[in-house]
Amino acid sequence: MRFVFLILVFALSFVSSAQNHQPSASEIKLKLKKLNFLGSVLYVAAHPDDENTRAITYLANDRLAATAYLSMTRGDGGQNLIGPEIGELLGLIRTQELLAARRIDGGQQFFTRAIDFGFSKNYQETLQIWNKEEILSDVVRVIRQFQPDVILTRFPPDERAGHGHHTSSAILAEEAFEISNNSEIFKDQVKTFGTWQVSALYTNTGRWWNQTINETTPGILTMNVGGYNALLGKSYSELAADSRTQHKSQGFGSAGMRGDAQEFFEYRKGDRAQKEIFETINTTWTRIKGGDRIQVLVEKVIRDFVEENPAASVAALVEIRKQIMSLENSVWKARKLKETEQLIRDCMGLYIEVKANQYMASPGHAVSLSFEVLNRSGVSVSLDNIKSEPLAIDSSLAIALNNNAPISFKVVKHIRTDVNYSAPYWLKEPHATGMFTVEDKSLIGTPENEAAILIHTTISVLGEKISTQVPVIYKWTDPVKGELMRPFEVVPPVFINFSQSVFVFRDQSQQVVNVLIKSASLKKINGLLKLQLPHGWISEPAAIPFELTKMNEEQTLSFKVKGGSEEFDGSIGAIAEIDGQSFSNSIRQIQYDHIPAQTLLPPAKARALRINIKKEGSVIGYIKGAGDEIPSSLRNLGYEVWEMKNEEVTAANLKRVDAVVLGIRTLNTNERIRFMMPTLLEYVKAGGTLVVQYNTSNDLEIEADKIAPYPLTLSRERVTQEDTEVRILIPDHSALNYPNKITPKDFEGWVQERGLYFPSKWNDSFEALLSMNDRGEPARDGSLLIAKYGAGHYVYTGLSFFRELPEGVPGAYKLFANLVSLSKAKNNPSAKVKSKSK
Ligand SMILES: [Zn+2]
Repeated sequence: MRFVFLILVFALSFVSSAQNHQPSASEIKLKLKKLNFLGSVLYVAAHPDDENTRAITYLANDRLAATAYLSMTRGDGGQNLIGPEIGELLGLIRTQELLAARRIDGGQQFFTRAIDFGFSKNYQETLQIWNKEEILSDVVRVIRQFQPDVILTRFPPDERAGHGHHTSSAILAEEAFEISNNSEIFKDQVKTFGTWQVSALYTNTGRWWNQTINETTPGILTMNVGGYNALLGKSYSELAADSRTQHKSQGFGSAGMRGDAQEFFEYRKGDRAQKEIFETINTTWTRIKGGDRIQVLVEKVIRDFVEENPAASVAALVEIRKQIMSLENSVWKARKLKETEQLIRDCMGLYIEVKANQYMASPGHAVSLSFEVLNRSGVSVSLDNIKSEPLAIDSSLAIALNNNAPISFKVVKHIRTDVNYSAPYWLKEPHATGMFTVEDKSLIGTPENEAAILIHTTISVLGEKISTQVPVIYKWTDPVKGELMRPFEVVPPVFINFSQSVFVFRDQSQQVVNVLIKSASLKKINGLLKLQLPHGWISEPAAIPFELTKMNEEQTLSFKVKGGSEEFDGSIGAIAEIDGQSFSNSIRQIQYDHIPAQTLLPPAKARALRINIKKEGSVIGYIKGAGDEIPSSLRNLGYEVWEMKNEEVTAANLKRVDAVVLGIRTLNTNERIRFMMPTLLEYVKAGGTLVVQYNTSNDLEIEADKIAPYPLTLSRERVTQEDTEVRILIPDHSALNYPNKITPKDFEGWVQERGLYFPSKWNDSFEALLSMNDRGEPARDGSLLIAKYGAGHYVYTGLSFFRELPEGVPGAYKLFANLVSLSKAKNNPSAKVKSKSK
């Protein structure tokens, strides 16, 4: 049995222990210097990876500005180089990659609700799909909240930016610049944040759209981002490379650079600076009322700072904190208060950690917490109070924290029954193509949820009470990787996962539907599991009782399901009843070493298709590429799939398969493909079928003239409008007739795009079966090319089967079934394979 999508392996993955990073004395010194700089920059672009990490690193660590990146989207629409996740799941990975990057370069991170719906050729389309007014309101909200002095856009607000999302990010930033100070616009935000006038907006120019720019170009500001920071022991370019390397799902591992490096900024709006972006802005404490005295105090702390004894600065920092507390409320007051309190903790080497005895628990269930609190300085500190709403804790303690004497204690508490499950906030509600639904407006702009359970601790430092929020975590030790941790999460007591994301019912015979039920409870659970089926469908039995005695115990329950007589395209669900309560969440975990473990709790549903679909052959060979779900889709059609290892791709083995499919980007990712291709082409010559899915023309692991039996030129041509017309060029080609008749209806209901990286040129031996194009573009005919080679068929297709099949698009299943059935087509008298090109 295969649980292709479940990833229910509760393997625990690494997470960088960001909240307990104790800075070194030199890092503390840099933070002290930052305390005396009151300038801020918001960098604006469209996707994770658009941001210029060198500029962000330099601004945050050299200019010591409050620096943030506003990415319009979470990068949901891209391709994933490290695993099978696409769409929302990929957006979740990229959100975390951006946060990992910011932990290195010192920036803050914001998002709008806009969705990366795939490549967009112009801003008009983008802004229409995103819902321009709503996304503009998000940009304005972030500006009013963060109150940047300067906005830097990555892109120009016109076609030179290329991608429609890119152009739109600049258009929205410029419009927001004009209106953020107008209290009549987006009035609901004004109550919370007030209005804000950004001083100036520049475009981070150079590169693609203006290569002639250099430091002598009139009106261009130059920033040398290549400096070396002795306190950090790295150049900003080196740090920026570490930051950029976090974009692992995009394969952006970067090498550090050293030496001077210029970035150029073109003036667009506001107060124009002549030499450098902060020259028109007051970046000292005098910018806020009553702040002038603080400047002097901070200067003195910096002067008196002793690397061997940062704790000696605590008294002065406590005094600075008192002064900040007495200021009127403002963004700078809040920001500097937070920095000062963190510096106080850093200078004392204060360590506060709260670990749970398990990494997830349900509302109403008990959780045991271990506290570890340690003061690593001679400063007089006490732990006064711990408080947590979800656990109904509010305890006064007054425990003295003596130098280097750890305090540890345990607390066992029940999670309140009204606590929400942990799940990324923007994925909780159904949403349109262009924008996430966020019910709680206060979350808009934020990169992620707060920790599932926060413990508020209050400590007294030299008599001053300071609160610290500590997330509850789970920790363990891996024999190889050492101490690891992950966030603690609040989840339902059971998870229900279908064994497949799509079930294809090809006829009315009974088909097994397996459902895995897994406990997240330390207690024994008894319940009943039922399927929710479309009208006229029958499951046998109607319900199955289950008993799970401990956490992580699981059971697979099998139902025999008979589809209806009518064709159907929808979903089936499952529901567990336990003690009169119903539960219907599945679990999906995302685990990579560079980001914290992510848990999603989507509804327990699977796509169900009842389609009259036929197929030929029984065994398909599959050679993995960058990762797609083609094997499970083929199994859905009733095929046996042999996921062939490189060494299994031999002439003898290929005799046993009816067709071979290459996973997406196999020609880019499999280092052995150059040695396998001759064998595969021999197999085609002898009558086999080889289906090659899309590859990029860069980074081929095989000579470009060896990828097919005849010349074929790959390109970047793509058709991004998933609903654009598909014109059938060779209606009587067997791939469009046998065993399933393909009609224009089969191209309805496709998702995200038609396809990508179509070949732009091909030899006459190829036949182009389909023609399509985005509105206003010339016809693209390279989406599905088939050549007869010897007795067999070579198929090259950039159609997005890797997106359509996991979404259960019926027409995509029928067409794919035809492609892998090609070798049998000649046995069918009604099918005619044309041998001449059009
Ligand atoms: Zn981009």
